[in-house]
Amino acid sequence: MTNGNTESNDARPASNFLREQIAEDVRTKKYGDAVIQTRFPPEPNGYLHIGHAKAICISFGLADEFGGKTNLRFDDTNPEKEEQEYVDSIQNDIRWLGFEWEKLCYASDYFGQLYEWAIQLIKSGNAYVDDLTADAIREYRGTLTEPGKESPYRNRTVEENLDLFVRMKQGEFADGSRVLRAKIDMASPNLNMRDPVMYRILHATHHRTGDEWCIYPMYDYAHGQSDSIEHVTHSLCSLEFADHQPLYCWFIEQLGIFPSHQYEFDRLNFTYTILSKRKLLQLVREGRVSGWDDPRMPTLCGIRRRGFTAEAIRALVTFLGASRTNVVQDIELLEHFQRDDLNRRASRAMAVLHPLKVVIDNYPEGQEEMVEVANNPEDPAAGTRQVPFSREIYIERDDFREAPPPKYYRLSPGKEVRLRNAYFVTARSVVKDAAGNVTEVHCTYDPASRGGNSPDGRKVKSTMHWVSARHAIAAEIRLYDKLFSKPDPYDFPEGGDLFDNLNPDSREILLDAKLEPSLAHAKLEDRYQFERVGYFCLDPDAKPGKLVFNRTLPLKDTWAKIEKKAPLHGADVR
Ligand code: ATP
Ligand code: MG
Repeated sequence: MTNGNTESNDARPASNFLREQIAEDVRTKKYGDAVIQTRFPPEPNGYLHIGHAKAICISFGLADEFGGKTNLRFDDTNPEKEEQEYVDSIQNDIRWLGFEWEKLCYASDYFGQLYEWAIQLIKSGNAYVDDLTADAIREYRGTLTEPGKESPYRNRTVEENLDLFVRMKQGEFADGSRVLRAKIDMASPNLNMRDPVMYRILHATHHRTGDEWCIYPMYDYAHGQSDSIEHVTHSLCSLEFADHQPLYCWFIEQLGIFPSHQYEFDRLNFTYTILSKRKLLQLVREGRVSGWDDPRMPTLCGIRRRGFTAEAIRALVTFLGASRTNVVQDIELLEHFQRDDLNRRASRAMAVLHPLKVVIDNYPEGQEEMVEVANNPEDPAAGTRQVPFSREIYIERDDFREAPPPKYYRLSPGKEVRLRNAYFVTARSVVKDAAGNVTEVHCTYDPASRGGNSPDGRKVKSTMHWVSARHAIAAEIRLYDKLFSKPDPYDFPEGGDLFDNLNPDSREILLDAKLEPSLAHAKLEDRYQFERVGYFCLDPDAKPGKLVFNRTLPLKDTWAKIEKKAPLHGADVR
């Protein structure tokens, strides 16, 4: 849970210990006059998600603040899971967030250097070839409470190690038959220091180096040295790597190379959300979502398609800052930041999702007129537009009740309401189908109330949106809700499954929505507030003549309720 002020998204300078650390290192000239260098090191084995957005904003953002530079480095040490598709999508998503890297690097560019350094570590007696099986290595490793056991191969001579390692590289041995390990300390309280594996044999084709290598460095061997090669001064990553840091330092010290230093910060997590790439991949592979960019996914391409904006995400990350405690944030907080951004930027439009026809009996047949409507009441510079009005219109089915419950102020027989920016109308009668459903409401209007106000000062309790039937354009509307129905999706009974917690109602498709005609010209990057309904954007599935809109969020800000703070920018939900 956060404790910040939500009145304005950028009101509060977030506490960020990383900023203080860098400022201190600049002041003490820890790295002399060298520029601050950070990097973002994704493994190209999936699409970036909202958690990565935090890491990106932190690494790129802090480097920018200090006049430094950030590299994008693909940690591509795992040939079996990595693909060009992911490499491309990651670059796309970082640019969408608004950042540009200094150098585009790949850990695979360093395979040659890493190999040389492995030879050097063997020669200095700091690495050895082990013939134990993977299972035996795990067993010998010990536990948090018991020390590990030394491998019988641990004391091979340097010559033997060199010979075996060179032959591993030359492809003489089968996958998994041998590994190269660092010779550190099998009794270390840190399991990462118990002779970690540096290289494994894997006859696999790599997305960049092809079949050049059949031994691949482990992430933990490649990572710190890759930082060092790039002269990364501040290697920023999430907390789960904290226990690995002593190992990165050990390699750097043994090799006597540029002393990159790692700092770990809290992972971003949200309620109702999973951020494991493996699980997200499973959702895609099992067809439980339409793809990585399904608007219900927490991926950056998913939330972008849903209508989320880079500005809102950057503002949220700034607001949260960085700490050393992992906290699960309420998903409503993310939604609040997004609403705040959309409220400022979204053009207003009228759209009826569940149409009910209204006929205004005393409005001349064949007549039509244009009413002037503000594009964004929050932004006068956004101007106005003309919206056609005529004798037959659509309103939301839910905005009419034949037998209104108490305190129902919208349209009902004998009741007068305002049609936004147009006229006052009073319901007079209904037409029903054979099943008794209301199919048409007949009204009369007050011609003197043009523009939405009556000269005699008469008040109405409700203002409704509407679309002229003759001018309406049909559209498909996709409504989205949370992908999981539990705040903690991993909360399932024994023998259960994470996916048992999928929300069966996370998507609803409406095929018969009626939109005001200006929406025919919507572009993918446009953001709309459909008055009284929610925030929407065009979906890439839209084609000329077949509009498809996604609901980014409904208007109601539940975070406001959670926070019980000052009123938020004006979502009219009456
Ligand atoms: P996996 O789900 O397979 O563990 P990952 O999400 O950690 O993968 P990486 O490609 O290793 O994926 O992540 C790249 C960088 O993003 C890492 O430096 C990591 O620290 C950071 N990162 C990943 N997830 C989060 C998160 N939820 N919050 C903040 N940073 C994150
Ligand atoms: Mg990870």
